[in-house]
Amino acid sequence: MKKFDWIIVGAGITGSALSYELTKKGLKVLLLEKDPNYSNATRYSYGGVAYWSGTDNNSIQLCQESRENYHNLSQELGADTEFRELDLMLTIPVDKSPQAIRENYNKFFIKPQLLTPQEAAIIEPLLNPNAISGCLQLPHGHIHPQKTNDAYQQAFLRSGGTFNYEEVTQLLFQNTTITGVQTNKEKYFSENVVICAGGLSHSLLRNIGLNVNVYFTHSQLILTPKLDIKLKSLVMPAILNRLDIEEKSGESGIQSLWNNPNNEIISDVMEPGAIQFLDGSFCLGQISQIITNPHTKPNEENAEKIIREEVGRILPQLQNLHGKVHHCLVAFCPDSNFLVGKIDNFQGLHLFSGFTSTFVFAPPLAKRFAVWATEDYEQMPSLLF
Ligand SMILES: Cc1cc2nc3c(=O)[nH]c(=O)nc-3n(C[C@H](O)[C@H](O)[C@H](O)COP(=O)(O)OP(=O)(O)OC[C@H]3O[C@@H](n4cnc5c(N)ncnc54)[C@H](O)[C@@H]3O)c2cc1C
Repeated sequence: MKKFDWIIVGAGITGSALSYELTKKGLKVLLLEKDPNYSNATRYSYGGVAYWSGTDNNSIQLCQESRENYHNLSQELGADTEFRELDLMLTIPVDKSPQAIRENYNKFFIKPQLLTPQEAAIIEPLLNPNAISGCLQLPHGHIHPQKTNDAYQQAFLRSGGTFNYEEVTQLLFQNTTITGVQTNKEKYFSENVVICAGGLSHSLLRNIGLNVNVYFTHSQLILTPKLDIKLKSLVMPAILNRLDIEEKSGESGIQSLWNNPNNEIISDVMEPGAIQFLDGSFCLGQISQIITNPHTKPNEENAEKIIREEVGRILPQLQNLHGKVHHCLVAFCPDSNFLVGKIDNFQGLHLFSGFTSTFVFAPPLAKRFAVWATEDYEQMPSLLF
């Protein structure tokens, strides 16, 4: 019988970081991932670490722990995460008042600096000053998302963890106590299972009758090969329409739309952004849709046209870069920064998903989760659905 202390479902950044931290505590951990090609949110992410985005004591502390952690993480994991500090340039549309937009950022513990278009173009020469009324500048962390994920997985394996490419098809229970998981290949047993399945967490838990408020967007973006042109900062819009739609999609009237597997709740929200990785490749994004069927494949041609036009307005030299459109699901939780804890409906079942700024919050919370699991299970937050 294949028995483990903990089974983790999903090997994006949440599952990989959590598996590593649990193994480091001496636990016998199995990590299961269905997709060897990693067409997931982690692979297609910008990799920004928003350590400025804490709003209360707890989130501020997590941000600070996260920043410190990244400074040492490559050394700890024995592989380069490509962590660096860079400028986050949040562009403000020409028809919006820069001062009014800046007010929205007063809730964060690090406040942005408001720049005129000309000042912004000195810091980021690829910006088109005529396309913006101003820019908010923030200190930001940056990692290579897939390399960081790989680094966690390699360190997890070296610490004695087990990692299999298998799809979890069913969660196994005896009455209301979890006993393990069934995959497309075998059964594995454990008294503790954590769902880290990103955009698929919602349907995995729905299959056992839980209506969990972790939903997902369909996101499309363009990845380019290595190029000579140089983007110095991470550029994103100061108004994140996606966060508004994520909040709305959790409202009670809209929640019921998730019961139908083919509803299109919100279509084509474009947020022009760009990052260049240290190897010279770019990620240009992103267009988001909320369609309740996770297996829908949104139209690639349409996405490519919109992303190129909108990124091109703000960063004209990036409009026609050679590149390919990709699609992934991005988990979100409408009313909090993340859902982390034990699911009280079933003994032994846990959730670690729905992060707003995953790269800042997931690594320090994975450490805390491992402490709760080994030293203070009573302190682990309880979730009831
Ligand atoms: C264009 C873009 C830019 C972004 N930029 C940022 C940013 O700058 N900063 C930031 O913090 N966040 C950013 N994000 C969001 C961030 O990438 C995600 O929130 C994060 O990667 C989610 O990690 P995850 O582990 O929850 O999910 P995922 O990375 O999606 O991983 C979940 C994994 O679970 C697996 N899985 C699902 N079901 C099963 C099953 N039944 N059995 C086995 N395996 C299963 C999936 O195959 C997948 O590999 C961005 C996202 C996009 C698309």
